[in-house]
Amino acid sequence: MTLVEDLHAALGAKGVLTGRDAAPYGEDWTGKYKTQPLAVARPASTEEVSQVMRIAARHGAAVVPLSGRTGLVGGGAAEGALVLSLERMNRVREIRPAARLAVVEAGVILSALHAATEPHGLTFPMTFGAKDSAMLGGLMSTNAGGSNVLRYGNTRALVLGIEVVLPDGRVLDAMSELHKDNSGYDLKDLFIGAEGTLGVITAAVVKLVELPAHRGTAFVGLDRLDAALDLLNRLQSVTGGAVEAFEYMPEGYMALHRKLFPEAQPPLADLHPVQILVEVGAATKDVPEKMTEVLAAMLEDGSLSDAAIAQNAAQRAAFWKVRESAAELAFHCRPFVDSDISVPVDKVAAFLEAYEARFPEIDPGAEALVVSHLGDGNIHHTIWPKRQDPEVLDALRALVEEIVGELRGSFSAEHGIGHSKQATMARRKDPVAVSVMRAIKSALDPDDRMNPGKVLPPL
Ligand SMILES: Cc1cc2nc3c(=O)[nH]c(=O)nc-3n(C[C@H](O)[C@H](O)[C@H](O)COP(=O)(O)OP(=O)(O)OC[C@H]3O[C@@H](n4cnc5c(N)ncnc54)[C@H](O)[C@@H]3O)c2cc1C
Repeated sequence: MTLVEDLHAALGAKGVLTGRDAAPYGEDWTGKYKTQPLAVARPASTEEVSQVMRIAARHGAAVVPLSGRTGLVGGGAAEGALVLSLERMNRVREIRPAARLAVVEAGVILSALHAATEPHGLTFPMTFGAKDSAMLGGLMSTNAGGSNVLRYGNTRALVLGIEVVLPDGRVLDAMSELHKDNSGYDLKDLFIGAEGTLGVITAAVVKLVELPAHRGTAFVGLDRLDAALDLLNRLQSVTGGAVEAFEYMPEGYMALHRKLFPEAQPPLADLHPVQILVEVGAATKDVPEKMTEVLAAMLEDGSLSDAAIAQNAAQRAAFWKVRESAAELAFHCRPFVDSDISVPVDKVAAFLEAYEARFPEIDPGAEALVVSHLGDGNIHHTIWPKRQDPEVLDALRALVEEIVGELRGSFSAEHGIGHSKQATMARRKDPVAVSVMRAIKSALDPDDRMNPGKVLPPL
């Protein structure tokens, strides 16, 4: 029997797509990768995922696990591979308010988990622009971050346990509900962030937190980034650490947003060198009130130039829409060098200054778009070169990597390596770390069939 016939026998007609029906699964949100999968398997249970993996192993087929296809680094490119889509494993199996946890399948969409937990007064505290498409399996596989990392941490910090189907079809049941478990190596954290190169995540136990009953959301204009960090630290100290998001958009970002979305009402009338979208959340309303007091005092003493506080849910959503258009702004013009980097929080300005001072040596006409989860030091930095020469693109990428290295930052903060950052991985990752990763990969996937050609640089 062929691979597809075996899959049909195991999953039925609903569980297998081929040809034109499979084609959309070879593309992602970026539109940068257009691949043709051999077929798509759509298992509906862990047992079916295990069967698919055994069948793929028998046929020696490469397998690319896919969730919401919103990944930004080409991790889902699947030319000639079997795509294993988690989209039918979309049940929230259990919500346990007393333990503040939920048991979810990998195909649950992030905003669907928010909707399921809200009636309990709880939430899974992760959010970002792709929340209506990205799925828990993708979140875990990329160790996604988003806007609330400052307060709640990234995916690793929010997952208690996972279930993984290994390349040979065995099921690793690490569905721990425990906050303390030191029984050997932490396998959960190995599969989280592995981008599908070690196995297929099928389910997880995730942490929930109280849904803030009161929120304060403000759009603030300032002259300098150090004043923004002062604002952040003052807010943290008066609110007891209740700042959920602290997002930085410089003048160029706001100007491009106005150009591309002229119908959107700007949160502030004027453009400022620094715009911050800040949000606090708490059980009591004195916390947003304290935020307002700090903003008023800083406006009074001249440390802030302007501030607008969202007066209702619609205004809050409009503020967030400006920030969450970042990916559309970055992708509106090609080719580009896109970097997703992190530096210590107080070194964001140093990175930007070093880049501004050095890029003209390579391409003085290059333009850059910056947007940053400033509260955790993550900068999304997109460069549109003036000179359309692959060597210029490479040199600009190398410049960003170099400055990040000087500041002891990371060339990959939250989107992962996938396909697009492999060259950087080869150049910049500690060779000892890469060799340990290769040893793990070959122990779990000796035939290199799990999402081949991703994360680890080619030998
Ligand atoms: C508008 C927009 C905004 C974004 N903002 C952010 C942000 O703020 N922060 C952030 O971190 N990311 C952000 N992203 C990137 C992206 O949404 C995240 O990386 C997300 O976690 C990917 O989830 P997904 O379900 O779409 O995964 P996919 O794109 O389907 O897959 C991503 C990777 O994980 C692997 N994978 C998927 N499911 C599984 C599984 N079950 N088991 C094993 N491997 C699997 C895939 O092979 C691929 O390598 C944004 C993307 C967009 C389009």
